[in-house]
Amino acid sequence: MTLALALSRQGLRVGLPGDALRASAEGGRGDVRAYALNSASRSLLTALKVWDALPADAVTAVDDMCVVGDAASGRIDFSAWQQGVAALAWIVDAAELDNALRTVLRFAPHVQALAEADGETADAELTVLAEGRDSAGRRAHGVAWQPQAYGHSALAARLVAGQPHANTACQWFASPAVLALLPLDRPAPDTSYALVWSMPSERAEQLRQQPQAEFEAALNAVCGAGFGGLRLASERSAWPLALARAEPVCGPGWALVGDAAHTIHPLAGQGLNLGLADVAALSRVIAEREPWRALGDETLLRRYARARALPTQAMAWVTDSLLHLFAAEQPLVRELRNRGMTLLNRLAPLKRALTARAMDA
Ligand SMILES: Cc1cc2nc3c(=O)[nH]c(=O)nc-3n(C[C@H](O)[C@H](O)[C@H](O)COP(=O)(O)OP(=O)(O)OC[C@H]3O[C@@H](n4cnc5c(N)ncnc54)[C@H](O)[C@@H]3O)c2cc1C
Repeated sequence: MTLALALSRQGLRVGLPGDALRASAEGGRGDVRAYALNSASRSLLTALKVWDALPADAVTAVDDMCVVGDAASGRIDFSAWQQGVAALAWIVDAAELDNALRTVLRFAPHVQALAEADGETADAELTVLAEGRDSAGRRAHGVAWQPQAYGHSALAARLVAGQPHANTACQWFASPAVLALLPLDRPAPDTSYALVWSMPSERAEQLRQQPQAEFEAALNAVCGAGFGGLRLASERSAWPLALARAEPVCGPGWALVGDAAHTIHPLAGQGLNLGLADVAALSRVIAEREPWRALGDETLLRRYARARALPTQAMAWVTDSLLHLFAAEQPLVRELRNRGMTLLNRLAPLKRALTARAMDA
């Protein structure tokens, strides 16, 4: 939907699968996730008039963030003020983002719904597959996709807390689990958080099905008493996690964007940021093409593939390495990783470099 908006602003005619233009039956309320979006994603959505279409309480700025290791010594604190940025990230309600995109799309010129029967055969110079990690179109183009399953699932839910969130996100590396609390202002007037808790899939399924009181006890055991007691405020959903990368990501007349091109662990909250950066790169390459070059020209599409290869590989490497570092159970590794966090916490320039990288996937 974001790419359709970006391309229609260039005056190109864009066809979208019919259901992409219709609001979902639940009015988009089914998704309990909230995305941590970086400043590059925010700029793109602002330029496309999507950001301003979001309800005020669907976006919460993150001013501070703490990352806690699995020993008392391991902790890193990030602050937007110290890094000299407006916010470390913005937490955006997933369902409201979906609604805002659909609303803006309905007013976009040059965007039309394709009847189901048209499918990919619609008379298009370029077909972009943004079908997510289980893309069927990718298979049809003979793209290699060999996911490495982590054997972990991410459990997502909405929580309410007894204490104000103070625009602070928290993350615990509680080997082998990783738990993140993302501050979110909705549903007002409760202080709330979006939870992302990844762990071995069997345990995630147990926690998903456990009675509410047991689930809340397990949650508060990891997060501690500082939140005034976290309570469950939604359904619990789980996603199996894998690392995968498509090869190639384009060919004559087609390209992949988003999770259809690369899927990573959500511990750094970067999957959608990478997908939106794909959109920005592809629409820039198309806008800057030579006047005689067709949209589906493979040379043109390879410019997009080259622009995205390094950032997507680097982010996959960082998330995968962090996960393995914190999964290792040897006492020496555990000691070193926690001391490393404390050391990093004291190195302001390195912290600044890390923040800058995460803000611009
Ligand atoms: C628990 C969790 C938390 C996360 N948190 C963050 C975060 O904080 N920040 C972040 O940046 N990322 C986060 N992510 C990652 C993020 O959700 C994904 O990277 C992002 O949703 C990928 O977007 P996408 O549009 O490429 O694919 P998807 O979101 O999978 O969307 C693809 C869509 O295409 C539809 N589709 C498929 N085939 C067709 C077809 N043939 N015709 C029509 N429609 C089709 C699908 O039904 C689906 O709606 C998180 C992921 C999880 C699981």
